[in-house]
Amino acid sequence: MALTKEQQLQYISHLIGECHKCDLYKTATNHVPGHGNANAEIVFIGEAPGEQEDLQGLPFVGNSGKLLDKLLNTIKVPRTDVFICNILKHRPPENRDPLPQEMKVCTPYLKAQLKIIKPKLIITLGRFAMNYFFPEESISRIRGQVRKIIWQELPLTIIPVYHPSAGLRNGAMLKSLQEDFLSIGQYLQKN
Ligand code: SF4
Repeated sequence: MALTKEQQLQYISHLIGECHKCDLYKTATNHVPGHGNANAEIVFIGEAPGEQEDLQGLPFVGNSGKLLDKLLNTIKVPRTDVFICNILKHRPPENRDPLPQEMKVCTPYLKAQLKIIKPKLIITLGRFAMNYFFPEESISRIRGQVRKIIWQELPLTIIPVYHPSAGLRNGAMLKSLQEDFLSIGQYLQKN
């Protein structure tokens, strides 16, 4: 009998929990594979787990997660309808930037998750996640725009936005995030 999407995602989470492909598992408290609806139309992708995420094993908890929930509320999408994950599945020590080699060896997990969920739309959160898909771009230039690409042989539709933590620090970025979430809502209504 074929596995359900939930079971397939659970299997990926299990593989991530046993992964030793880079050194990040050594300093992490928990793996943070991602969390949410296996049938999600929207997948949010951040850079890597932070301190609270590492402690709880869940993505986007803490203040950034609370702001993300509020932004989702503005477009009437409950968090239970989306899937949220990061490029890296273990926290880099002291929240340092991910290394290219770490992202390279961790990418098959993200690819597998996207292949299972097949979202209509991906929202990258922050500069790092945007650059992962668009290495030549700047977030201030393309945030809020709908971009269609082939990534790792998967056709993806992506809207990059600022990271919620930037919105917590800076009023102008919060305004941009609010505008971009309206664009996300409009895209979902039309597609
Ligand atoms: S960050 Fe990714 S590649 Fe590195 S140990 Fe964790 S799951 Fe494996």
